[in-house]
Amino acid sequence: MVQSVLIVGGGSAGWITANLLNAHCRRTGRDTRIVLVESPDIPTIGVGEATVPTIRRTLNDIGLPEQDFLESTEATFKTLIRFKDWNLGETYDHPFDRRPRPQSDTAAIAWSAQNGLPFDRHFSVLTQLADFNTAPKSPRHPQYQASFPYAYHLDAIKLAARLSSFGQANGIEYRLGNVVDVIVSPEGLIAGVKTDRGDDLTANLYIDCTGFRSVLLGGALDVPVRSFEKHLLCDRAVTMRVPYDVYRPERILTYTKATAREAGWQWDINLQSRRGIGYVYSSQFLDETAAEAALRQYEGAHSDELEARHIRFASGKREVSWKGNCVAVGLSDGFLEPLESSGLYLIEFAGLAIANMLADFESAPQATMRYYNRITNDLYDEILGFLNLHYVISNRRDTAFWRAATSDEVIVDDLRDRLELWKHRGPGQFDFPGADRLFARDSYEFILHGMRYVKGATHSRASIPDLSQVVMKARAELPDHEAFLSLVERAAEARKLS
Ligand SMILES: Cc1cc2nc3c(=O)[nH]c(=O)nc-3n(C[C@H](O)[C@H](O)[C@H](O)COP(=O)(O)OP(=O)(O)OC[C@H]3O[C@@H](n4cnc5c(N)ncnc54)[C@H](O)[C@@H]3O)c2cc1C
Repeated sequence: MVQSVLIVGGGSAGWITANLLNAHCRRTGRDTRIVLVESPDIPTIGVGEATVPTIRRTLNDIGLPEQDFLESTEATFKTLIRFKDWNLGETYDHPFDRRPRPQSDTAAIAWSAQNGLPFDRHFSVLTQLADFNTAPKSPRHPQYQASFPYAYHLDAIKLAARLSSFGQANGIEYRLGNVVDVIVSPEGLIAGVKTDRGDDLTANLYIDCTGFRSVLLGGALDVPVRSFEKHLLCDRAVTMRVPYDVYRPERILTYTKATAREAGWQWDINLQSRRGIGYVYSSQFLDETAAEAALRQYEGAHSDELEARHIRFASGKREVSWKGNCVAVGLSDGFLEPLESSGLYLIEFAGLAIANMLADFESAPQATMRYYNRITNDLYDEILGFLNLHYVISNRRDTAFWRAATSDEVIVDDLRDRLELWKHRGPGQFDFPGADRLFARDSYEFILHGMRYVKGATHSRASIPDLSQVVMKARAELPDHEAFLSLVERAAEARKLS
């Protein structure tokens, strides 16, 4: 019986997992004690500002009201990623909406770059709404629901802080302390952890959320990492926060900007009162000083006084996520570079899966562990292939980084044959095994057609849906993004006064 769970680490991974487990136990009447211990000295990574639409279900499952979430995390809406210069001089979108598709549509869409028509503009309403800065929902929509799929940009530190207070108010026990010793039994199970504040903590299940340190799974249980660095070359980031009182952009955008640069790419994310920007790059091709200089040059002179943070990371995953009575969630398990905002998604997936497998673990621990490891490894591989795609189909060869990132040996094996097929016909229904994928056919279509990779297909105009009515109706019904955010702010102020 899993009577107690100990979560080590209080970043996004720790608090999302703790709250998902807690909500599940409350909902199902399970009497499980959940304790989270966090170091008072080791800061969280503090990045992780862009999400994917599943975050709404996660927050809803946790029970945090959307208005509360929007107020407490500086959140804005995210409806797509706008990719610039992945083919030099070109821009395309990866939106969250799915293209309208005839029911019997099994074949690849015949869409040709030669037509000169941008794919996203013809098949996505959100792409068109983004140009007008329209919010994806109106205040009349129920919480976490809207006419179109959406996610958020958020402040990662504020998210962890809000989930911490919310979780504690709902029964999660919280301890401060550095875990300085992990006791491992002769059978290879964790028998307890000791903190520098004198606490000896034990549980039936231990969840390692200690970030890149991976104190339990990587450290005490010695589970090695399977590296993805051959396929994803970026391993550094330099980041900066740009408050609006230093520089206010013309509009608070509903999308993440992902702009390819000489040795990687750069994000630009708009929150309620600041932007987060970061240059993700490969240390083989650029050093820290040059990367920071490039980021400051992009931002302009007003960034001279702003602090830059340098982050080192490695794309890879522990060979197993769950060993014995210990599961690693978040960066302690693995990381895939941040291009498609999969970090928080992987945590949501893990938290939900563990919560739903608690009963399985009691009745069939070995099978549960093996199955969890299989689905988690498959998920990482799925995301790895999708991220790899963004680089390997680029037509850029202008710098040493881009020549390396587009070389044949970088391509993941799983993608190789499909890339060959897609060159002639684009992605079809049978190219994506597995239900419930994070990135399925629509996502691949937006990238492949956006990058003009598919050659030689011809299309008939009849196959292009007419979205103009939907766009017009949406623009009439939905508020401007900033108007929506002002309502959030006003509601917060009204609450403070009352
Ligand atoms: C450059 C970059 C950009 C990213 N951008 C995105 C993005 O846009 N979207 C997205 O979804 N994801 C993104 N991610 C991933 C995202 O940041 C992480 O998945 C997420 O923040 C989870 O981090 P974590 O909680 O695993 O680790 P951390 O935030 O590092 O937290 C680790 C916790 O463990 C504690 N700890 C460590 N050692 C001990 C110890 N010995 N005893 C007690 N406590 C300990 C620390 O105090 C801390 O509380 C990005 C990552 C990077 C590197």
